[in-house]
Amino acid sequence: MMDKAEAMEQAPVYDPATGGRIAEVPIMDAAAVRAAVARARDAQPAWAALPLKERCRRLTRFRDLIVERADTLATLISRETGKPRLEALTHEILPVADVVTWLAHRGPRILRPRRVALRWFKHKKSLIVYRPRGVVGVIAPWNTPFHVALRDALTALAAGNAVVVKPSEVTPLCLLAAKDVWNATGMPEDLLQVVTGAGPTGAALIDAGIQKVNFTGAVSTGRRIAAACGERLIPCTLELGGKAPLIVCDDADVERAARAIVWGGFANNGQLCVGVERVYATAANYDTLVARVAELTRGLRQGAPASDEVDLGAVTFARQIDTAERLVADACQKGARLLTGGRRLPGPGQFYEPAVLADCTHDMLVMREEIFGPVVPIMRVESEAQAFELANGSHLGLAAYVFSGNRRQALARAQQLAAGAVMVNDILTHAAFAEAPFGGIKSSGYGRVQGEDGLRDMCDIVHVNVDRFTFWRTEPFWFPYSDRKYRHALRALPLLLGRHGILSRIGRWL
Ligand code: NAD
Repeated sequence: MMDKAEAMEQAPVYDPATGGRIAEVPIMDAAAVRAAVARARDAQPAWAALPLKERCRRLTRFRDLIVERADTLATLISRETGKPRLEALTHEILPVADVVTWLAHRGPRILRPRRVALRWFKHKKSLIVYRPRGVVGVIAPWNTPFHVALRDALTALAAGNAVVVKPSEVTPLCLLAAKDVWNATGMPEDLLQVVTGAGPTGAALIDAGIQKVNFTGAVSTGRRIAAACGERLIPCTLELGGKAPLIVCDDADVERAARAIVWGGFANNGQLCVGVERVYATAANYDTLVARVAELTRGLRQGAPASDEVDLGAVTFARQIDTAERLVADACQKGARLLTGGRRLPGPGQFYEPAVLADCTHDMLVMREEIFGPVVPIMRVESEAQAFELANGSHLGLAAYVFSGNRRQALARAQQLAAGAVMVNDILTHAAFAEAPFGGIKSSGYGRVQGEDGLRDMCDIVHVNVDRFTFWRTEPFWFPYSDRKYRHALRALPLLLGRHGILSRIGRWL
């Protein structure tokens, strides 16, 4: 096995803070991926045969080891992604530990066979059964590589599936480290596997006979994944890009909103799918807000994440700096004011000063395209109504944020925002609530991870129906058909389901 991996072509992994090469990992070809999936398929039935409670209990062993080794893992995640260790701990390791804890507490109840009360067929009993799908393929991005991949993998495992993870080629090391932790728990090694490589390895995984794909990544790749899954008729959950708006209402606490904008825009160097990507404020707060956001941003400390005393580390993926530069240049050329930052720092590491743009308009690409980097554009709007309208105008719909002093009103308006999740007076954290569904609408994807919906999505939903008593040798709808039967059915239809039919009137109580 090892010899084969060594014989494969290798891909380098770089430390974004220094530009130094830190490791090489195999680029796995289609045959290697197929073999991994075959091993996972063999391991799955024995795992699925365990009661769910027992599966979850065993998964907590993995959680316990992750927590025990948190310092080592945080250091590795930080080195590979460039993010501060505190973010590695709180954005990646903590939510993974929490997902397992939630699955262990709630999973058995959520996946318990469920009775469905039939309204007509009272002599029959219906059960909804949640059965594992088989082998689930998880294809992950580089921005929160540990959390995204393991959140989906552990949920799939709890549901009784085997899992093959394809981490991003930019950040495979933390998943390989997670695999070492898995092996150390004594669980069947083939149940959770990691295949390394770039796009073609991911494509090979979809083609390797798996039963479901959980993909997180770019919109353009998502389209290719959906097409490949459509071709093979396997379900996929797509977690794609975001362009989260943050609306500062007239009655908002401006200081809290400004701090939220700075954290929401620059945490993980802006490389968060739910990060604050555009800000709308009316004249009531605009000048104070813009000045405060710029001031707070100037106070951020940027540097190599080897020190825990930095707020912003290195940009994980060099291409994001090119995108930031392009969008800032376009905005400035169209009249935006660059209040601070917006400068690429001299190498070898990948650093870009966090940029705040004021006086933005929707003519500017920065208000419409996903930035996924350390740039916060702010726009002055005529009214709150215009802010909500512009917020909903994007082709993306992952997250949205509203800051308001009137919580009740904000909650009502939040429900009108076109996004998979909306927070009032807070940002980002919803993405790590293990008990709540997470996912997008419009081009941000479909399907949900986390919560009851995410767990059930890892299952085939099977309806089992049985007669309580079987007295009759036949049923009225069975053969033979006749003109008499047809006329009876025709007469019964309005009596049962017409405007004044019995079921139309009393169906709700049955
Ligand atoms: P990407 O689409 O380039 O890559 C994601 C993964 O897909 C990688 O593992 C990659 O190797 C693989 N891949 C690429 N081509 C493939 C193919 N043809 N078949 C199968 N797999 C293939 O995305 P990225 O640059 O790694 O991540 C950044 C994007 O991810 C951003 O747009 C961001 O908004 C999005 N994202 C979304 C969420 C979410 O939950 N909605 C979370 C994190 C990141």
